[in-house]
Formats: sequence, structure tokens, C-alpha cells
Amino acid sequence: MDIAHQGIIPIAKPWLGPEEAEAAARTVVSGFLDQGPKVARFEAAFSRTVGARKAVATSSGTAALHLALMVQKIGVGDDVVVPSVSSIETASAPRFVGANPVFADVDQATMNLSSSTIEQALTAHTRAVIVAHQLGVPADMESIRNLCEPKGIAVLEDATCALGSTYLGSPVGTHSTIAAFSFNPRKTITTGEGGMVCVQNDPWAQRLRSLRNHGLSMRSHTMNETYEETGFNYRMTDLQAALGLVQLERLSTIVRRRRHLAMTYQLLLGTVPGVQIVEDPLYGTSNFQSFWILLPDDFPVTRDEFISWMLQNGVSTRRAVQPRHREGAFAGKSSPSLPVADRFARQAIVLPLFPQMTESEQNRVCELFMAAAGHTT
Ligand SMILES: *Cc1c(COP(=O)(O)O)cnc(C)c1O
Repeated sequence: MDIAHQGIIPIAKPWLGPEEAEAAARTVVSGFLDQGPKVARFEAAFSRTVGARKAVATSSGTAALHLALMVQKIGVGDDVVVPSVSSIETASAPRFVGANPVFADVDQATMNLSSSTIEQALTAHTRAVIVAHQLGVPADMESIRNLCEPKGIAVLEDATCALGSTYLGSPVGTHSTIAAFSFNPRKTITTGEGGMVCVQNDPWAQRLRSLRNHGLSMRSHTMNETYEETGFNYRMTDLQAALGLVQLERLSTIVRRRRHLAMTYQLLLGTVPGVQIVEDPLYGTSNFQSFWILLPDDFPVTRDEFISWMLQNGVSTRRAVQPRHREGAFAGKSSPSLPVADRFARQAIVLPLFPQMTESEQNRVCELFMAAAGHTT
């Protein structure tokens, strides 16, 4: 069969079915569109799934990160260590509270911060670290907390990519005091846009609920409204939560399928010398939210030539996550030297991986990769 006639194999595609459409339609008919009973149900189901004490839904993962920093009382004059290799939001969030993002390099095996890369970025003003589980690969939380917590540095998890990943046998997002998730269509499950903050104590959950709703005081439910502090409209809608409830039921199937596809890629492409392929770290499992490969220096074609050649052959691939310490929004007079981040910037690619990817689609991607690598089968 000629795959070219079926259009381009996409890099990612959310799995949405008639169940989501029905749930959305029922919500429309109910007339309850903004934050209501379905958001509460989605929060309860999500906290059970992740094993968090409380989950508070937000309008996006970025909003979740912003509120997580506020609850940790990070603000003006504070330095926050962030991974250079991450979505721009990880670095933007400290700016929202007037704090200063300080970029750290990442570990080449996981694309994540490690205790040693964090240590190199600490300053006298470091008050927090945002640890991203990049593209689903869990970061080594225990060694990071062992470095930071004795120094009074708060550890926050950017778990926006990592729903369904595990660390030391339990779900990612519960190995720190606060974690942010995202339901953007690029993530494991989607609500269109949406986010969640998971916390392990009730007072923080209560403050998060207030902050996402203009700072409305919770005690005032039966009385007049009062506002003790300035908050935001970061609410999720019931329409989004209706989708989220259906998607959450698909989560284990989605993760199983993603892991199966990732193992197949590892098996089929792992024979190319010098190529580094994303894999589970010893201490956890990835949901393989994106499947990345680091090309060797002597790969026959450059990364960008590879991407355009794949596209000409009907396969969408991408550069992996870019380092942010050189972005105009953040670059100072001298950006730090972060060699691993720069290496990912030059030589990392992401291959297509989505739950409904077929075997023939995956074989096609592998054949093309092997041809580009100079291995004909
Ligand atoms: C997607 C993502 C975010 C932001 O989530 P949104 O829901 O899109 O706002 C933050 N950090 C990382 C690492 C992400 O991948």
C-alpha cells in the first residue's frame, strides 16, 4: 500500500472518539458550561488517578505553574532554576510572579534537570526549582529534593508532559509538594486547553481554588463575596471537564499503546551505531509523550536535512524541545554555556507517535530512518 496517498503521517494526534463528542453534547444540553459539577468530578477522578491529596483544575498548564509558584510564595527578587531544554512556559512562569528564571543544563540520558546541573545554577537568591519531566521521562526527584530541601529551596514539578509516567513505582506528580499538569492536545490526554495543580495539603488546595477565581474567599459562600487577595480567571469549564472525564478513562490504554510503540521503535532503530534513543530511566517509566532521538555527530545528513527529507516522503518529524537560554525573551548580555542543551538543539529529533498509529505507519517511519542513516534493509 502506498502510504503517500493517505497523506502525511503526523507527529502527534489526540485520541478522541464519539464518547467525547457525546459528553460535550450532554454538557451543552445541561446548560452548565462554566466551572461547575463536572470540574469537581474531574478533579476528584484526577487526584485518585495520580494519588494526590487534592487536585485543582485550571484553564491551562501555564496557569497551573503560575499558581503553583504563588502558593510557594515565590516572588520579586527570587531566583528560580528552570531547565533550559523545555517549553517556553517553564521559563515564563517565574516572570509572572516577578521572579527571575535561571537556566540550568540537562542530563543527556533523560533531557531533564539533575541534582548536578541544578547545583551549578544555584545562586544566593535561589528559592525554587521547577523540575520538568521532559516529554514524559521522569526526573530523579529524590536526589533533587535531597540537594534542594536542606537549603530551603522549594521543588515544584512541571508534570505537564508526564501524566501516566511513574517514578519509583508510583505516578509522577506526587513526589514533591506541588505539581502542574496540562491537557493541551499535545499531552497524554486533552480537554482542548486545560491544566491541573496537584498538592498534598488542604490549605494550599483552598488557596489555589481562590486564586483561580479572582481571589474569592471560600468562607464567603453563604455570605457576601469577599476578596482577600488579587487572583485571576484561571477556571476550567464544565465543557472541558466533560472531555477530561472521558479521556481519563482512556489513560491506561493510551499509555500502554504509547509504550508499545516506543518499545517497537527502540527495537527497530536501536541497531544504528551512535544514535541515542529515549528510554526509561532505571528509577521509573515514561509515557513516551514524545519519542526523541539524538543523532550522532557523524550522521550522514544534518538534522534539518533529515526533517525535510522525511516530510518529502510523507512523514512529519520535528526538532526536539529547544533550549530557552538563547531566546530573545530571556537571553542576557551573556547566556550561560549549557553544552548538553545546545547539543539537543542541534541534533535531536522527534518521531511520530500517537495511540492510533498503525504498524504500517510505524514501519514506514523506521524504513525511512534507516535509509537516512545509510542502512538499507
Ligand atoms: C505543555 C507544557 C506546558 C504548558 O502547558 P499549557 O497547558 O500548554 O499551558 C508547560 N511546560 C511544559 C514542559 C509543557 O510541555
